[in-house]
Amino acid sequence: MNDRDVFVIEASGVGKVYWDGGKTLQVLKNVSLTVKKGEMLAILGPSGSGKTTLLNILSGLDRPSEGSVRLEGQEMHRLSAGQAARVRNERIGFVFQFYHLLPEFTALENVLLPALIKRAEGGRRKAEDIRERASGLLEKVGLKDRRLHYPSELSGGEQQRVALARALMNDPAVLFCDEPTGNLDPATAKEMAGLIKDLSVRENKTVLVVTHDEKIAGMATRVWYIAKEH
Ligand code: ADP
Ligand code: MG
Repeated sequence: MNDRDVFVIEASGVGKVYWDGGKTLQVLKNVSLTVKKGEMLAILGPSGSGKTTLLNILSGLDRPSEGSVRLEGQEMHRLSAGQAARVRNERIGFVFQFYHLLPEFTALENVLLPALIKRAEGGRRKAEDIRERASGLLEKVGLKDRRLHYPSELSGGEQQRVALARALMNDPAVLFCDEPTGNLDPATAKEMAGLIKDLSVRENKTVLVVTHDEKIAGMATRVWYIAKEH
């Protein structure tokens, strides 16, 4: 079977209901979505339509109220909390709107973190190899000279590039980006969008990106719209 015909994500009949002050709020209803290896899927929809909820469910951070999600063929919500944490650490990279770097660690240390967690869980990579990969990723995102800076010493665009390097550290199967340029000025946003696209092509990464940014949507191999249910 061609590599590109493999479904990395298969979501079927996904629904999500929140309890909101004593009443229910149906955020997602019967969402079915499949994503193939190497696709870059842009997810568009109005604010409050459940885009973040959907990414959290697809990445196993949150549970659907109904339906199923498979990541690389594995039913996410049948896994134990420990197994799910391991899948997230090893198979999923996340980039958030507000970067979420750890402020007391340098750029390099932030990028290293997923690999250190993986090693603590029994991975066998050598410390030098891990450091080399982290430095290489920072170089790839154009931050070779900022390795030892702390997040507070970096611009928003630089912090987001660190977050992208961190997301790629363990060579994930899928990269989830939740409004990755939502907090950046247009020029920086364009650079960031280009980096994400470039990585998706060069490393044949599957990318799901929630965005309002037309430039990112224009770079995607497919655009998927989500409607507001409530
Ligand atoms: P989007 O990312 O598309 O803006 P979200 O997925 O963040 O949308 O939220 C969808 C809807 O669900 C919103 O109305 C939001 O207020 C609601 N919501 C999100 N998380 C919770 C929660 N934990 N409990 C109750 N309601 C929530
Ligand atoms: Mg959101």
